[in-house]
Amino acid sequence: MSHTEQNRPIVEIRRVSKSYRSPEGATINAVSDLSLSIAAGQFTTLLGPSGCGKTTLLRMIGGFEEPDGGNVLIDGVEMTFRPPYERPVNTVFQQYALFPHMTAAENIGYGLSVARVPRAEIAKRVAEALELVRLDNFGSRSVRKMSGGQQQRVALARALILRPKILLLDEPLAALDRRLRKDMQFELKKLQHELGIAFLCVTHDQEEALAMSDQIVVMNGGRIEQIGTPWDVYQKPQTRFAAGFVGEMNFVPAVARPKEGRDNRFEAADGAELFASCGAAAGTPHLLALRPEQLRVADAASTTDGLPVIAGRVVESIYLGTSTRVEVSAAGHTLHAAFDGGRAPWAPGQTIHLVYDPANVMVLAP
Ligand code: ATP
Repeated sequence: MSHTEQNRPIVEIRRVSKSYRSPEGATINAVSDLSLSIAAGQFTTLLGPSGCGKTTLLRMIGGFEEPDGGNVLIDGVEMTFRPPYERPVNTVFQQYALFPHMTAAENIGYGLSVARVPRAEIAKRVAEALELVRLDNFGSRSVRKMSGGQQQRVALARALILRPKILLLDEPLAALDRRLRKDMQFELKKLQHELGIAFLCVTHDQEEALAMSDQIVVMNGGRIEQIGTPWDVYQKPQTRFAAGFVGEMNFVPAVARPKEGRDNRFEAADGAELFASCGAAAGTPHLLALRPEQLRVADAASTTDGLPVIAGRVVESIYLGTSTRVEVSAAGHTLHAAFDGGRAPWAPGQTIHLVYDPANVMVLAP
C-alpha cells in the first residue's frame, strides 16, 4: 500500500450521536456529536475508561447499533443504517463467540460456507488464515480443546478470512492472562503490518494502546479528548484527562508569575516555585504536569546542571527490580518519581531534592 493509500480515510464518522435510556428513565449520552477519520492502513485504538462510549462507537461502525444522528461512511460509501453483513467490516468480540462443537478450521471457514463459496476454495483460504495466525497444525482441533490464546487466534482468523477492509476488535485481549496479552500485542501489531488493512481496537488499557497503535483516540464522556500518535498522546497531552489517563502523571496546581530569565515561573500552593518552558499569562491558575520518570534525585555528589530543584520529604520508597519508586511530599502535594536501574530505596522522612527539566513540564488548563 502506498503512503497516500495508507492515509486515505477508510472510515469517516461525521457528527455521530447515540443516547440510551437508563432503567430509571434518565438519558445517557453514550456518544455525543463525535467526528473521526480512520486511515486505511493504520492501527487505531479507541482508549478510555469504562462507560466513555468506545464500544458504542465501535458497534455503530460494525452496524450493530444505529446512531440517533450523524453519518458513518466506510470506504466513501454511506453505511449509517446498513446491517453488519452489508458492511466490508468484521469484528472480533471480547468473548470470541466461537462455535464450541466445531473444529478451528470449521469455525474459521463458517462464514465462507454460509456464503456458499466452493469447498476447495474454503479449504485453501482456511489453510492460509491458519498460517496467518500461526496455527498451521491446529485446523482439525476442537476449539474446546484450545487455550485462551489459541481461541483468540481462531477468532482473528475467522474475521480475517472474509477479507474485510477494516477489522474491529472489541477488547480483544481482555480474556488473556498478562503474559499472553503482552505477546498478543506484538502479534496483533505484526498481523496488521503484514495485512496492511485498518484495525480499529477498543481498550481501556493504556499500555495496550501505546504498544499497538499508530493512532490513539482518547475518549471521555462520549467525546474525543485527543487524537494522536502514542508519542503525541504521552508526551503532549492536551487536557488534564488525557494527561492523567495515559501513563502516570504528577499534577501540581500553580499560578503563573512574571517570567524570570529563560523559563516561565509558577507558584504552587505552599509557595514553592516551579519552572516550565511553556508560557502562561501572569496571575492565571494552571495545572503543571510532570511524569514520574522525568524527575531525578540530586545527591550531594551530583550537580543539577543548572536545572531547577524541588525540595521534599520522602513518604515511602519501594524497590521494583528494574526501577525504584519514591513518593515525596513536595510543593504542597504528593509527587511520584521513578528511577531506572533499581537503586536502594530512600528512608521515609528523609529530605530529598528532585531535579527536573522545565522543558518536560506540561502546562495545562486547571
Ligand atoms: P466499557 O469499557 O465498560 O465497555 P465503553 O466505553 O465501551 O465501556 P459503552 O459500552 O459504549 O462504554 O457505554 C457508554 C454508556 O452507554 C455507558 O454509560 C453505558 O452504561 C451506556 N449503555 C451502553 N449500552 C447501553 C444499552 N444498551 N442500554 C442502556 N445504556 C447503555
